[in-house]
Amino acid sequence: MTILNTPFKIDDLYWREAGSHRQVTVECPMCCGQRYVTVTIGTGEQYTVECEACGAGYLGPQGVITEYDVTPKAEKFIIAEVKEWRDKRWSVADAYGQTAYFDTLYKTEAEALAASEKRAAELVESNMANRRKKKYGKVSSWTVLYHKRQITDFERQIAWHQAKIDAKGAGEK
Ligand SMILES: [Zn+2]
Repeated sequence: MTILNTPFKIDDLYWREAGSHRQVTVECPMCCGQRYVTVTIGTGEQYTVECEACGAGYLGPQGVITEYDVTPKAEKFIIAEVKEWRDKRWSVADAYGQTAYFDTLYKTEAEALAASEKRAAELVESNMANRRKKKYGKVSSWTVLYHKRQITDFERQIAWHQAKIDAKGAGEK
């Protein structure tokens, strides 16, 4: 066996970040699962419109949104095998066949846990950023305004068509 000049030894104990990273479905924070929100416009009139925070295109509001959840965790990693040296990084494996870059391993459990907690905090932040984008990127009052304008337009068109029919009717008399 070739002896490689590694910064670690076989059977050395290290720790790795092992936070379980999963997608979770949570109740929509905007409509609290109601699927509709009530919008009050400047005139004081209230409208109930489909929630846009949990809207999913043609499917309409779902009452739930998808977020990422991470549970911070540190796990032992005992180096059992050297996998490769590539791009100036050591790749190692443990006895269970899990592989990791050596430079992502930590000497102590505390360090690995701190890194995992930091990652979890970043994820919470990104979830909040997504919520903000959803919440303020689309504003339900604009939806109300849009529909009100459409109604006004159609009413005007109906009136115009009605007048044409009436005019023709009047001409034939
Ligand atoms: Zn919603």
